[in-house]
Amino acid sequence: MKKLQFYNTLTRKKEQFEPIAPPYVTTYSCGPTVYNYAHIGNLRTYVFMDELRRTLKHAGYITKSVMNITDVGHLMSDGDDGEDKMQSAAKKQNKSPEEIAAFYSEVFFKDLARLNILTPEIIAKATDNIDEMIEFVQKLCELGYGYETDDGIYFDISKFDGYGKLSRCNIEDALAGARVAINTQKRHPADFALWKKAEKNHIMQWASPWGMGYPGWHIECSTMSKKFLGERFDIHTGGVDHIPIHHENEIAQSESLEGHQVVNLWMHGEFMLVDGGKMSKSLGNVYTIDDLIAKGYSPLAFRYFCMNTHYRNKLNFTFDGLSSAATAYNRLRSAISACKAAKSADSETAQKVENQKAAVIAAVYDDLNFPLALGELWTMAKLPACRQIYDAAEQLNDILGLDLHLAPEQPNAHDDQAIPDDVKKIAEERFAARQNKDWATSDALRTKLDELGYTVLDSKTGYELKKK
Ligand code: AMP
Ligand code: ZN
Repeated sequence: MKKLQFYNTLTRKKEQFEPIAPPYVTTYSCGPTVYNYAHIGNLRTYVFMDELRRTLKHAGYITKSVMNITDVGHLMSDGDDGEDKMQSAAKKQNKSPEEIAAFYSEVFFKDLARLNILTPEIIAKATDNIDEMIEFVQKLCELGYGYETDDGIYFDISKFDGYGKLSRCNIEDALAGARVAINTQKRHPADFALWKKAEKNHIMQWASPWGMGYPGWHIECSTMSKKFLGERFDIHTGGVDHIPIHHENEIAQSESLEGHQVVNLWMHGEFMLVDGGKMSKSLGNVYTIDDLIAKGYSPLAFRYFCMNTHYRNKLNFTFDGLSSAATAYNRLRSAISACKAAKSADSETAQKVENQKAAVIAAVYDDLNFPLALGELWTMAKLPACRQIYDAAEQLNDILGLDLHLAPEQPNAHDDQAIPDDVKKIAEERFAARQNKDWATSDALRTKLDELGYTVLDSKTGYELKKK
């Protein structure tokens, strides 16, 4: 097994990765709430999960990864009120919650497949694990962490010493941050629901020691990680929005039950913004993979776009940014796949290819530095064309999942839109001149393009041609 380093949200440090029982690595990833289509921000988080799992496998580990499907219990607000998201969607679409869950789960897995995201070994549906959740809540009550009110069972955060350790906020902060309690029987406004008692017309409800009801969202992840991975496991992932509430609450539940630390390493993917701000329905900027495809972008170009920014940095989505990524992706794929038919290199070039391959792997093993890895790959692709480049890229596909060794995809509609062939040819000649550091030719060709009404935008990895 190779050495890996990962940043741990809990310690705020990059650490040498030491699994509990090598060669196995146990991971848990918070999965989607299947009441709607996953948007590109959600999918960024699953590309990050995939980067991690592919890296672990590449380093020689055997992954046992769980991803849950939340099909009950996630309420409209992050507090403990508002309608259940599944129930709300079911009512709006005049369908049963099961039909809603089945429909959006299917689309979700199709999106994962299109993005070359490997499906985790275990997919755990919340509604398949209700008995275990009830048992978990009962034990927390027996241990004195859970208490009953008229509308449910709540976790008493003042009983758990470590509350706030992941987000580094103390209980006073949590109290100040909590909204005015709707349930006045709660001991503290920041106490959270483990189990909710169902109103009569609630569509999803199960028998429990506290009458008919349904689980809280946080208990789902604590229960299913325990059931499938045991009382200690290696890595927990999710998006950064989950740090202050969902994951803090998971820690409180799991550690109170076990009496010790449960998750060794917490890893969080940063958010995707759209046009510099939050995605929201009212702004009309919540995009799905199908939306991108409809605009002529391939799912793998989107994967490349995600991988070009480190998972711990915010990624601002714009169509201009995606266009540049798509152009770079297609160019890289053309260059590499063309090497399949190329001759074998001399030993000096072959060594350079080997070095670049090693550099790609080293970057990835260092806290998933895929942007650096892609840079190293570009350096490899710019070496004199030879079969070794193709072979290296094919071997690296296990870790990259970008299919760079395959023949290029159909040019994207947006890519070539209305740009005449002679203009494209000049742009290519200029790009080649730039690669050869022939600045005079490059400048002259830029002027020519300018006169023809086109602007060239250079980036680290390629260029984009735009009509003025
Ligand atoms: P949800 O279905 O709302 O539970 O979200 C599924 C996953 O997507 C979670 O891990 C969230 O942290 C993540 N997520 C939600 N919004 C974004 C975003 N804008 N950028 C990145 N990840 C997100
Ligand atoms: Zn979760």
